[in-house]
Amino acid sequence: MIDIIHHGAVDGVTGSCHELRISQATKGLAHQNNQSTKGSDPLGADPTQKPAPTSTSCAGILIDCGLFQGNESKSRSAAQDLAIDFPIDHIRALVVTHVHIDHVGRIPYLLAAGFDGPIICSEPTAIMLPEILEDALKIGFTRDRALINRVLGVIRDRIVPVAYGQWHSVFEEEASSLKVRLQRAGHILGSAYVECDCRAGDYEERVVFSGDLGASHSPLLPEPVSPERADRLVIESTYGDKNHEDRATRRYRLKAVLEHALEDGGTVLIPAFSIGRTQELLYEIEGLIAEFGDEQVVDHQARQATKGSDPSGSDPTQRTAADSRLGAFGVSPQGDRPRSKPLTWNNLEVVVDSPLAAEFTKIYRDLKPFWDEEARALVNSGRHPLSFEQLTVINSHEDHVNAVNYLAKSRRPCVVIAGSGMCAGGRVVNYLKAMLGDARNDVLFVGYQAAGTPGRDILTFGPRGGWVELEGERYDIRAQVHTVGGYSAHAGQEDLLRFVGGIPQPPSEIRFVHGDEGA
Ligand SMILES: [Zn+2]
Repeated sequence: MIDIIHHGAVDGVTGSCHELRISQATKGLAHQNNQSTKGSDPLGADPTQKPAPTSTSCAGILIDCGLFQGNESKSRSAAQDLAIDFPIDHIRALVVTHVHIDHVGRIPYLLAAGFDGPIICSEPTAIMLPEILEDALKIGFTRDRALINRVLGVIRDRIVPVAYGQWHSVFEEEASSLKVRLQRAGHILGSAYVECDCRAGDYEERVVFSGDLGASHSPLLPEPVSPERADRLVIESTYGDKNHEDRATRRYRLKAVLEHALEDGGTVLIPAFSIGRTQELLYEIEGLIAEFGDEQVVDHQARQATKGSDPSGSDPTQRTAADSRLGAFGVSPQGDRPRSKPLTWNNLEVVVDSPLAAEFTKIYRDLKPFWDEEARALVNSGRHPLSFEQLTVINSHEDHVNAVNYLAKSRRPCVVIAGSGMCAGGRVVNYLKAMLGDARNDVLFVGYQAAGTPGRDILTFGPRGGWVELEGERYDIRAQVHTVGGYSAHAGQEDLLRFVGGIPQPPSEIRFVHGDEGA
């Protein structure tokens, strides 16, 4: 019997953890009870039955082991969120589809619960996984450096990188066997969907877990190709009810939003996941800078005309003490820019404020062989999509605090990308607190905002002049709120349908996970 069991992320968007379990009755009466329900222990035989002695061998793998977020976690206690509340003795391996925290965040707790198998993942994921977990451990697990290093050491030892497109045997026994193959999912660097060839006795089946799938025509990564076979398919459904704007449209929409937002000299704040979307955005912004170079981002005359509305009354041409503070973290003070010199795309300031995003941007740069053809062609032509000269990366907490304070007071047009993507923590929260109350600033959402997160509230209530609660306090939203939908790293409805439709023989069963109920 081959079971697919979901230990997380069935109704909600986050917290993925699925199991593929092969049980095989080897002697006597087989318990062919197919009503295996979630949470029931299939290892235990029904005590009311009195069959001949039966031994059931049971082995399985986990696909992802993620943390819960948003509403999903509100209905659960913190301990419930972290607990590994299912049997793991029979789990032979963990397969990681990609390093987003809602897919890997509970790995330390899985290890603590006694899991001692390998962690199978793609080659880029093998590089990124210890980095993301180090961050997660520091934030949520312990401050004990030695303990963190020990856990990371265990994780590094367990990681088994498997190249895309190659079968890897997890176990091969008389009664059963299981092998897995990873294919590019186009979601973030290293992301994979997992093909599982399982055998229970004479019965064979291929089960495919999509992980998170990328959108078509997304920057940097090749789009996923449908599996050649999937008898059963477990597929994400984040955008099951929505289509994304196409690449060209969203690129010019991004341009238009940036122009509009920078017109009044405020900050454009883009909450984004450190991994994936941040790099996609940098790639697109670099593209806009390369294309429009000397063109003005905004009509400077128009900006002067609206100057009277500046609530802080500060003069953009006045150099302030804050400029020298900003200089301390290497930002060229554009407050110096003479009034007559308009802001062009070439001197648009872009800030990535996140040590984690900085680290992952570097890893992305190092792993160019995994980029798509278009991105590699740009590099060959001498461009640097992820390290252009207008880009400033803020690492230390002190520089972060200075940047928040400075940008909140100055009239300096600037694009800031900071995490977390749903505004539920991270450095973006400090920016929001400082900037939401000022109409010159703009918040630009480029990714999915789960119900129950501050990001969803800003998106819902911001345009109506509402407020959002951040770390227990209310903040009025006067900043403008925009969305450019196409930058989701998730497949849209059409992409999902194309992925399923491309499977030559339709799957006998498709399970939808990782999406709101409507989606
Ligand atoms: Zn993801």
